[in-house]
Amino acid sequence: MSAKIRLYVEHPLGRGQSVDLTREQAHYLFGVMRLAVGGHVALFNGQDGEWLAQVAQAGKRGGVLTCLEQSKPLQLPPDLWLIFAPIKKARTDFIVEKATEMGAARILPVQTEFTNSERIRQDRLQAHAVEAAEQCGGTYVPEVADLQRLDRMLDTWPEGRQLMFCDEAEVGSALRLASQEKGQPWAILIGPEGGFSDRERKRLTGLPYAHVVSLGPRILRADTAAVAALTMWQQALGDWA
Ligand code: SAH
Repeated sequence: MSAKIRLYVEHPLGRGQSVDLTREQAHYLFGVMRLAVGGHVALFNGQDGEWLAQVAQAGKRGGVLTCLEQSKPLQLPPDLWLIFAPIKKARTDFIVEKATEMGAARILPVQTEFTNSERIRQDRLQAHAVEAAEQCGGTYVPEVADLQRLDRMLDTWPEGRQLMFCDEAEVGSALRLASQEKGQPWAILIGPEGGFSDRERKRLTGLPYAHVVSLGPRILRADTAAVAALTMWQQALGDWA
């Protein structure tokens, strides 16, 4: 028995567990997807894996599901952060969606000297991550952090985390990720449309934990660069192999 509909819930999941639905979830399952009592849904909460659940009560404003059995164990992504400078709304949404599908553990928007957008809607971006996880069969939802300044983040950089600094000025000097040890915490950094300032580049290249990486001889848009960098890292050090 498997369910076609996947739903993220903020609720503990386990055998026989009842899960109360929010108004939005009830609307989605019963209004949009036309599910009725007895129908099946796959649930995940980012912690307990995926559970096959059955509709016990269905209403316009709410409903109850009952967990039957675990259909997938929890699968955590590698300890990889994606740090990026937000760009236009639709492209920022794209980055969050793709980073979730590609298996980033955390998504951290940063303000750099040349970042155009001063604000983000963290709640909206988090909702995009949830939707992407529902869609891609993941059992984990990466946290989307609030916008913070890149220089402050570097001031309090966690010990032992490596940084893959994607810099279009570095053509030809690509780091060989394959020579790095697997299983280490990493972060990828993608700059804004305007690129990094000289000051930022100087600081970043001087950091002992930073590795400058080229993504080829063409200048990629930040959203393309994010997907390319995630691909490169996953292929060499992540959970693809
Ligand atoms: N500074 C450029 C555009 C920056 S592209 C300009 O104004 O013309 C946005 C970000 O994508 C960059 O900051 C970098 O992190 C990444 N990026 C794009 N192309 C890249 C490449 N060929 N190699 C490495 N990083 C790249």
